[in-house]
Amino acid sequence: MSDEHKAKMRAGRERAAAERKAKAIIGISKHPELLNMPKKLKAVPEFLGITKTDCPVGCTFEHCIITGGPYCGHPCKGGIQPAQMQNRETVERYNRARKHLAHVELDKRP
Ligand SMILES: [Zn+2]
Repeated sequence: MSDEHKAKMRAGRERAAAERKAKAIIGISKHPELLNMPKKLKAVPEFLGITKTDCPVGCTFEHCIITGGPYCGHPCKGGIQPAQMQNRETVERYNRARKHLAHVELDKRP
């Protein structure tokens, strides 16, 4: 068997393996939460405990998880102030919180 032939066979096997993997991922894609699970478990969720009406558990009177300051930036409680709009990190965190909230609400649906 020529080396070229061997290389072709190896490439074919690798492609088949990749296809099997892709199919497995498609199976998971019906339940994307399964795919995200290990990541979520590894890191403490940034907005743990947040709901539409409540701040994350890590939020205190002096320190809001979202704004990082002594004012609450909860998207449903008034959001971030114009001054904080200048801070990219805060804006990104705020947007993440909003997205996270949307997911929380989706999860509640039967
Ligand atoms: Zn807050």
